[in-house]
Amino acid sequence: MKYIEEFNDPERARRLLDDIRATVTRPWALMEVCGGQTHSIIRHGIDQLLPEEVELIHGPGCPVCVTPLDVIDKALAIAARPEVIFCSFGDMLRVPGTDRDLFRVKGEGGDVRVVYSPLDALELARKNPDREVVFFAIGFETTAPANAMAVHQARRLGLGNFSLLVSHVRVPPAIEAIMTAPSCRVQGFLAAGHVCSVMGTAEYPDLAAKHRVPVVVTGFEPLDILEGIRRAVQQLERGEHRVENAYPRAVCEQGNPAALRMLEEVFEVTDRNWRGIGRIPASGWRLTDAFRAHDAEHRFDVSGIRTEEPAVCRAGEVLQGLLKPTGCEAFGTACTPRTPLGATMVSSEGACAAYYLYRRMNTPAPQGSRIPREEMNPVG
Ligand code: SF4
Repeated sequence: MKYIEEFNDPERARRLLDDIRATVTRPWALMEVCGGQTHSIIRHGIDQLLPEEVELIHGPGCPVCVTPLDVIDKALAIAARPEVIFCSFGDMLRVPGTDRDLFRVKGEGGDVRVVYSPLDALELARKNPDREVVFFAIGFETTAPANAMAVHQARRLGLGNFSLLVSHVRVPPAIEAIMTAPSCRVQGFLAAGHVCSVMGTAEYPDLAAKHRVPVVVTGFEPLDILEGIRRAVQQLERGEHRVENAYPRAVCEQGNPAALRMLEEVFEVTDRNWRGIGRIPASGWRLTDAFRAHDAEHRFDVSGIRTEEPAVCRAGEVLQGLLKPTGCEAFGTACTPRTPLGATMVSSEGACAAYYLYRRMNTPAPQGSRIPREEMNPVG
């Protein structure tokens, strides 16, 4: 199948691995930014095939995982209101809030619905003029344009009963935060190809120059990832720190101009909290004043929420690349995809879920505990 099998070719993978082995002379630590890349790496065992000098550190690019607890709790409070139809991608339903999740709210009578596009939620608003339809707009630069378009359409169609609960985040400020953390070990980045297909690559040269790190825009198939690693290692060995595009079939320097225009019209940059990481300046988007009427946080009184993270969960360290999931005591025992203590075990892009799903366990899981891949929710 074109664009699928050709990027899984074992012979070409072997050649790329040989090239990486021939290039590397000393230890290097690379961070793959996106949770989709982490899942591909663990699923195909790429980290186990690399020479031992090359370490892959899993980054914070899982949108479900970094959505802050107070926003999850706000979603739960809004979804429980009788006048609301609360719409979300499937991944968010099992993300634990302080004392329940969206599935629990649905079980208790809340009208919570899984949709596959924000436009599905918009259609619900059109068909249900007597109800308030709220879409849970989370994610990185990849999902933001579609959500911006939905709210833009709502205003154009006069659908005053449609709103977004917004928790959008941006990759470059997260890279800046990672690089300035005292504990940082990252020497190069595999940037998220889908994010760059929207935003282009212009945000990265300054970061690469300031922190003297190679940034290689990388895709998601096994050969994409090996090519990204090969180029990053090559730069490191030569003492270079440039932005390179190893995903040209999807990414160009200027990104997607139509999507960028829509983002600029609907959203403005704001500081955001990242779950497990903390507040990162200018790391998110919120609706501009012109779209404030469609902002669920303004439409519903959700102030005064108090949050509490489970003390045992170390997802914050996992998200910052400071801990592998198997280093968490609860991994595979108290915390599994069926009994998640943190979002990184729920999301199909979470590192804890990847290690569990592909059996990267220090100890064997109990019989029958495996969650089939098809039971895990689609990417949110
Ligand atoms: S294994 Fe579970 S408890 Fe441990 S860090 Fe991951 S999500 Fe949190």
